Amino acid sequence: MSVLTIGTHMSIARGIANTAKNTVWMEANTMQIFSRNPRGSNFKVYTPKETEQFQTIRKEHRFGPLLAHAPYTMNLASDQERVYEFACTVIREDVARMDELDIEYLVFHPGSHTGIGVERGIQNIIRGLDQAVTGNEKITVLLETMSGKGTEIGARFEHLKAIRDGLAHPERIGICLDTCHVFAAGYDIVNELDKVLDEFDHVLGLGLLKAIHLNDSMMPFDSHKDRHAAFGEGLIGMEALLRVMRHPMLSGLPFYLETPLDDQGHKEEIRRIKEIISKNGQRDD
Ligand SMILES: [Zn+2]
Repeated sequence: MSVLTIGTHMSIARGIANTAKNTVWMEANTMQIFSRNPRGSNFKVYTPKETEQFQTIRKEHRFGPLLAHAPYTMNLASDQERVYEFACTVIREDVARMDELDIEYLVFHPGSHTGIGVERGIQNIIRGLDQAVTGNEKITVLLETMSGKGTEIGARFEHLKAIRDGLAHPERIGICLDTCHVFAAGYDIVNELDKVLDEFDHVLGLGLLKAIHLNDSMMPFDSHKDRHAAFGEGLIGMEALLRVMRHPMLSGLPFYLETPLDDQGHKEEIRRIKEIISKNGQRDD
């Protein structure tokens, strides 16, 4: 009898307390925020008052696990010194900053090897994570499943397994599955969801799966292209996404929409999803 935990990705330009308020307005019960400026390097320091307000809202409204997303510009797989050092600094600071805010999860894109090969890229990611994760945090760092565009690492479950296995503190690492990315990477969640989940379980273990990015895909199956579509408006389709949400192995997880809609659109999308899910009687809250 699990409660549906659903929210959207939110800009934190308006501050973290106002972002939490906006989540309440959307009638969502979780949110994903950027850990800092998604395309740059700066971050805001929240005042104690704002932090307190944020903590009060999330408690009063019983938010599920919150997810922070590291910037897209960060590439921990890189062999270029400046790019790599920037990534190491960002992940180290953001693990600490998000942990301090009692955010449950920090997700990041493992990175692109840009020609040095998957194995060397993975070694760089491992070193980068090891200088960021002390093992004393409460936060869990999530590796995201990727579409495999360009030289992206993480389009195969085996990549994520190799990263986790190489770490000093694997116990602080989990996985975030993006429905759009895995579909574009060639995992057929439309026709063979059980088979995909069996494979995930076999390679990584379903216990490591902590969050779902609930996105439809504008790009075809196995295209290795990453373009999110609104729920039910892409090539994955509503039925397949609902099967993901209702799957007994997944239904208790938090779902985060990263769909190309504005606040009003997201509010409507969440309302519609909740309505369909409850109508079909698959859940008792
Ligand atoms: Zn992502």
